[in-house]
Amino acid sequence: MNPISEAYALAQDASDELASFRDEFLIPKHDGREQAYFCGNSLGLQPRATWAAMQTELEDWRDLGVEGHFRGRNPWMPYHSFVRQHLAELVGASESEVVAMNSLTVNLHLLMVSFYQPTKQRPAILIEAGAFPSDRHAVASQIAFHGFDPVNDLIELHPDGENGTISMAAIKRVLIQQGHRIALVLWPGVQYRTGQRFDLKQIADLAHRAGAMVGFDLAHAVGNVPVDLSQSGADFAAWCSYKYLNSGPGSIAGAFVHARHAEAKLPRFAGWWGHDQATRFKMGPDFVPTPGAEGWQLSNPPIFALAPLKASLDVFHRAGLARLRAKSVRLTAYLEQLVQHQLGDHIDIVTPADAEQRGCQLSLRVKMGRDTGRALFEFLGAQGVVGDWREPDVIRMSPTPLYNRFSDCWRFAETARQFFAGA
Ligand SMILES: *Cc1c(COP(=O)(O)O)cnc(C)c1O
Repeated sequence: MNPISEAYALAQDASDELASFRDEFLIPKHDGREQAYFCGNSLGLQPRATWAAMQTELEDWRDLGVEGHFRGRNPWMPYHSFVRQHLAELVGASESEVVAMNSLTVNLHLLMVSFYQPTKQRPAILIEAGAFPSDRHAVASQIAFHGFDPVNDLIELHPDGENGTISMAAIKRVLIQQGHRIALVLWPGVQYRTGQRFDLKQIADLAHRAGAMVGFDLAHAVGNVPVDLSQSGADFAAWCSYKYLNSGPGSIAGAFVHARHAEAKLPRFAGWWGHDQATRFKMGPDFVPTPGAEGWQLSNPPIFALAPLKASLDVFHRAGLARLRAKSVRLTAYLEQLVQHQLGDHIDIVTPADAEQRGCQLSLRVKMGRDTGRALFEFLGAQGVVGDWREPDVIRMSPTPLYNRFSDCWRFAETARQFFAGA
């Protein structure tokens, strides 16, 4: 069958063993028809189970008041521990290495308080040029907070590859040349603009060999590609849960601290929820951290943010990340094939062609330039094909294996083809 035909896409959907997971999601509509939603990299869609999970907590609060902490159907006191196992599973960590708390940028700051310890000889942080602005703001402000100057001590590694990608050789080079002055490497698991995926273990090894600490921002990696944080040897990691993790706008983030730091006497900003659980409610004046990632908690957690995370992680657990990834590789390869065959005269793919070096996202650049790119993006949106736009000229399309179909990819390519036919 011709892969460019709609019949082919529909046949792929019909034989997809994960197809029924789409029915567990609420798909937004456009003119009465379900959208082709490719924006899971920005805000994942709502699992149906989320509604009931929220309602349970609202009812327990209504019916039990403060007693909900102990007598709720999911008691709020240990609630953060209900997501621990599935979270650990998703990021390749042990349960004591992960915690759900705060938001992503907050976690980056809290973890840098512990893992960025600049000295006069070693003041610098290495990030990728073109990093997500919040990460850049976070590291620049940390550098300044310690009395150093981001102009000198924030090292931004520029892309050396095609389309703005960064090779491992370039990372190795900068760590050989400047490693002696780098205190911390903060690197993305998947880069948000290009969609490039990095080998975490290699980066952690290179950074450690240079004498630096290493942290990963997994905002675009978690729930998208397998990550093996414990094995990577990373010192810390953080991620948000509203993108591929489908836990709702601004929902609670995650953090990882490697087991070798579980009991380390590191500087940290402390709060009562990080205090050792056994004595937390003795309400004593001295801080004794809970061993592991939970020791970085500050506040008692927001149940209305944890409930959607819990519901969503359950979906991931049942689908299984290995199966999801296998479908994801096929789905994105199909989207790539359609772009090359149907739209190759008009669109370049920025994201690496090697499946190992990307997640589900393809970043597309319209050859005719920004204005045409923007017009295509608007045209797609007006037809219910939802991607997102990243300045200056990139359209990001992220088919996620939980709720996207091969026929969604086909619909995108067909709609874009119509745009160029009429342009
Ligand atoms: C989405 C994203 C953020 C957003 O940070 P919040 O603190 O959740 O607002 C930060 N960094 C990266 C790399 C992201 O992709």
